Amino acid sequence: MTADQVVLVINSGSSSLKYQLVEPSSGRTRAGGGIQQIGEPSSRAGDHEEALRLAFEQMAEAGVDLQACGLLAVGHRVVHGGNDFYRPTLLDDATIVDLEKLSELAPLHNPPALRGIKVARSLLPGVPHIAVFDTAFFHNLPAAAATYAMNRELAERWRIRRYGFHGTSHRYVSEQAAEFLGRPTEALNQIVLHLGNGASASAIAGGRPVDTSMGLTPLEGLVMGTRSGDIDPGVISYLWRSAKMPVDDIESMLNNRSGVWGLAGERDFRRLRGMIESGDGAAELAYDVFIHRLRKYIGAYLAVLGHTDVLTFTAGIGENDAAVRRDAITGMDELGLVIDEDRNASGQRRISADDSPITILVIPTNEELAIARDCVRILEAS
Ligand code: ADP
Repeated sequence: MTADQVVLVINSGSSSLKYQLVEPSSGRTRAGGGIQQIGEPSSRAGDHEEALRLAFEQMAEAGVDLQACGLLAVGHRVVHGGNDFYRPTLLDDATIVDLEKLSELAPLHNPPALRGIKVARSLLPGVPHIAVFDTAFFHNLPAAAATYAMNRELAERWRIRRYGFHGTSHRYVSEQAAEFLGRPTEALNQIVLHLGNGASASAIAGGRPVDTSMGLTPLEGLVMGTRSGDIDPGVISYLWRSAKMPVDDIESMLNNRSGVWGLAGERDFRRLRGMIESGDGAAELAYDVFIHRLRKYIGAYLAVLGHTDVLTFTAGIGENDAAVRRDAITGMDELGLVIDEDRNASGQRRISADDSPITILVIPTNEELAIARDCVRILEAS
């Protein structure tokens, strides 16, 4: 790899397509953007092919010639890798057929990624396309953490286990935390809190994840922008039986109309804060429920790890919302977490007090860079 080579990273969701042209060696982003609301009347893109063509146009306008910019590979973020895909995978017709079979396991997330892959391969046929999976980092979760206590035969037949998601971010951030501390990941026990629209927590012992909050799907765990996180599975059968809601509607409600948005009608934490300040009780409750769940997971992972060296906040809320960080940690001195209010409020990277037994960090995630570097690794190995 030479310094001027780049990887185009594509994150193709159901109604959006985000892209970044990344220099894996320097970490520099040469171009980036996204096309939203694909398929809706207000959008400039009727489908993913149009969206990708628009992305290429945007890059051309930014002065990027994809044919002549040293494009090494196209890296595709794929949410669910199931049991079989846990390494970055060079895509050919056969692997795409295998990936299509996985859509049953992740009907909300994998089909849009596959659409993006197919369109990108047809528009850029001369470069390798590589899939990087959100589940990969958690492939080897200890059985006790990966297993649901349910009928074993059914679980095996339907591949039901806790897979975990946001793995690219949890891995990248835990490696960055180790680098910041000047220690090898193998020497550290870490908790990573990825708090964005989607939110997840992980416990990582010596570089190996030992638990994470998302499960078979990205619905489990923390309270999120529009997802419920943990909920009694009895709620689903109750709504189905008593409210006569079809299961697809229940699933869509739990994914798209729950979480902070479901409670307060707003999912963005900047606006949520404004609502709380103007005395909106629903917004305050939504915030309290979010914080309560987060604190429960921190406590759980301190117990799972036994000894913790570092806890790191990342993603949109984790990186920017000092009040969330304060409220997640305050009062945990006896558990080893002592926050320094001034450092936290002034946006420093290390926000723990000097005498805090556990170091508390804020580290920006960069999934695109991690995906681009994975692509380079797989190309160099093949
Ligand atoms: P995604 O999961 O979509 O990648 P992000 O990691 O970009 O999400 O996080 C998006 C969320 O981060 C926003 O919805 C908002 O709640 C929150 N956020 C971003 N900037 C700030 C800020 N300055 N203060 C508080 N919250 C913020």
